[in-house]
Amino acid sequence: MNLPSTTKAYAALAPTTPLQPYNLERRPLGTHDVAITIEYCGVCHSDLHQVRNEWGGAIYPMVPGHEIVGHVKAIGSSVSKFSIGDRVGVGVIVDSCRCCSACEEHLEQFCEKGASFTYNSMEQDKKTPTYGGYSQEIITTEDFVLPIPENLPLATAAPLLCAGITTYSPLRHWKVGVGQKVGIIGLGGLGHLGVKFAHALGAETYVITTSAHKRTDALQLGAQGILLSSDSACMAAHAMSFDFILSTISAVHHLDDYLKLLKRDGTLVTVGLPPQPLKLDLSSVIHGRKTIAGSMIGGIQETEEMLKFCGEKNITADIELIPINEINTAYDRMLRGDVHYRFVIDIASLGKE
Ligand code: NAP
Ligand code: ZN
Ligand code: ZN
Repeated sequence: MNLPSTTKAYAALAPTTPLQPYNLERRPLGTHDVAITIEYCGVCHSDLHQVRNEWGGAIYPMVPGHEIVGHVKAIGSSVSKFSIGDRVGVGVIVDSCRCCSACEEHLEQFCEKGASFTYNSMEQDKKTPTYGGYSQEIITTEDFVLPIPENLPLATAAPLLCAGITTYSPLRHWKVGVGQKVGIIGLGGLGHLGVKFAHALGAETYVITTSAHKRTDALQLGAQGILLSSDSACMAAHAMSFDFILSTISAVHHLDDYLKLLKRDGTLVTVGLPPQPLKLDLSSVIHGRKTIAGSMIGGIQETEEMLKFCGEKNITADIELIPINEINTAYDRMLRGDVHYRFVIDIASLGKE
């Protein structure tokens, strides 16, 4: 059992070539490790940014995927939190130093010594590359494995591991709730879960979108209405009316257009990370004492809290399940905004394509 194991995967070998089948060696099961048979893996826009090296520093071969769910296949001798057969997930982080001030405050994503991200990153030894969930199995330390509530189907729960926590965390941190008017910019993987969470937290929620055809879906997800960002009359009618706006935009855009929507003292938090810097007219924040902030995923404790919240409120993602050999087409569709609202890979298709 304690030998490295070979697992089938899909990898990018370079920024410009399609993802292709790849055999991956997973590490031997350590005493604190959990081996997980992966059943589903969500497709995040961050996968695309990283595969194509849009953020720089990409490590190839790259096996993307950080919305991982499946069952526990084996446990190391010191594992206490999980048993064989448990329904579990792995999100964006697989390890951290555990002793810096960020780790001590359960904010492992901001680990001062550098968190180990699930792929395109290094283990805490800073020399062993990590490989993600477009693969049949992952072996990782139990402290970064998350239980999935029994009532949530695994396929639709997968996107909670990144898109879910990334939208839940800022909504909680900035105390979004009843009596507030909240905007979610971009109705994609992150955005559609942001709408569900903002609505569940009691906020009056609007989708701010470039896609007029997403109106019906936005309302079904819990939005009160949509603002079509290209409709200047509609944007003007909602000027200075939002308490809080969460932006999930993945491409370069005009931030000033959205800042106009904020009330005095309002806050716009971006989780979207476009490949190039944005231009900003500082008068957009000076007038009205407005705040722009960012947020990155969430810590492990908060991810557990989010999963419990989803279990209680029955919140999961709206997904399109795809076999792994459709991943390259899925990336192209995601780039066009043609995603309803998260692609999830059926890992059972791996090796059968
Ligand atoms: P996605 O499913 O592709 O959704 C992005 C949405 O943004 C699109 O569906 C589209 O929605 C809108 N959009 C795209 N281009 C736009 C433009 N030029 N102007 C205005 N709106 C535009 O992507 P995702 O997986 O939700 O990820 C969104 C972003 O968040 C990515 O940059 C990703 O890397 C980042 N991310 C960050 C974190 C974090 O921790 N901070 C975690 C995960 C992902 P409409 O059709 O409604 O306009
Ligand atoms: Zn992600
Ligand atoms: Zn740390």
